[in-house]
Amino acid sequence: MASQLIYIDGQFYPKEEAKVSVFDHGLLYGDGVFEGIRAYGGRVFRLKEHVARLYSGAKTIMLDIPLSQEEMIAAVCDCFRVNGLSDGYCRLVVTRGIGDLGLDPRKCPVPTVIIIADQITLYPPEYYDNGLNVITCATRRVSPQALDPALKPLNYLNNIMAKIETTQAGVPEGIMLSSEGYVSECTGDNLFLVEKGELLTPPLYIGNLAGITRQAIIDVAREQGIAVHEDLFRMHRVYNADEVFLTGTAAEVVPVVRVDGRSIGDGRPGPLTGKLWHLFTELTTHDGEPIEG
Ligand code: PMP
Repeated sequence: MASQLIYIDGQFYPKEEAKVSVFDHGLLYGDGVFEGIRAYGGRVFRLKEHVARLYSGAKTIMLDIPLSQEEMIAAVCDCFRVNGLSDGYCRLVVTRGIGDLGLDPRKCPVPTVIIIADQITLYPPEYYDNGLNVITCATRRVSPQALDPALKPLNYLNNIMAKIETTQAGVPEGIMLSSEGYVSECTGDNLFLVEKGELLTPPLYIGNLAGITRQAIIDVAREQGIAVHEDLFRMHRVYNADEVFLTGTAAEVVPVVRVDGRSIGDGRPGPLTGKLWHLFTELTTHDGEPIEG
C-alpha cells in the first residue's frame, strides 16, 4: 500500500519523511492554531467554516497564514485526494514556525502549514446505542479573560488535564465548567440539553469553542421548528434534563445517559438526540466542499 502523504508548506511528503524542526514554536510553546475536519462520501463537511475559524483564530494571535482561505480549502481537498480518501479525518495545523528558544513570535518569520488526511477512528457503536457515562471535571475551562476558548490553539493542556480526569474515572468524556461554575463544554465536544422538546446549550461567551457541529445542530433543529436557547446553566439543569447529548467533528451527535452517577431521563439515549443525529448525518451527504473540485 502506498505511504500516506502529508502536506507541509506546499509539498507532500511520505509519512516517514514528514518532519518539522525542533525549533518550531508549535512544538516549543503550542504557538499556533488547528482544525479537525471530516470528509463524507467525497465532500469535506463545512470546510469553509473550519477554515474561517482557523483564520479568525490566527488573526487573534497575529499569525499571518501564507495562503488565502481559498488556497487552504484547495490544499485540504488535495490532501484528501492524493491519499485516495473520500471519507476520513483531516488535521489542519498552522504553527508560528521556526524561531529561537525565546517566546518572541517576531523571531518566527514563516508559519508552518501541515495537513494530515487520515482514516477516521470512529467512536464505538455502543456509545450511540447505549449512551455515554460522563463526569464533571475538577479542571475548569480556561477563562475567556485569560485566553478566549473560541480559539482552537495548539496548546490543549487545559482540555488534556480534564481528559486525564475522565480516564482516571474510566469514562469517555467529561463536562468542564467555567471559572464561575457554569457548564461550558466537554474536553473535546460541545454539550446540549433537551428540556420539554427544546434545546439548551451554553452561550459562546461563557468560554467554549464555537463548534462547527454545534452550529450545524442549531441550524437543523431550528429548521425543524425546534427552539434552541443559548443560556447559562449549572449542573442541576444537566442532571434534570430529559436528554443530554454532545456534538463534535469526530463524535457527530452522541447521547449521554449518566452524569456524575445520575441517570439522565430514563437512562436511555433520547428520541430527540436520535432524530438530530439522523438529520446531521443527512446534512453530511450534501453540505461541504467536493474533494474532486
Ligand atoms: N469543544 C472542544 C474543546 C473541541 O476541541 C471540539 C473539537 N473536537 C469541539 C468542542 C467540537 O467542535 P467541532 O464541532 O467544530 O468539532
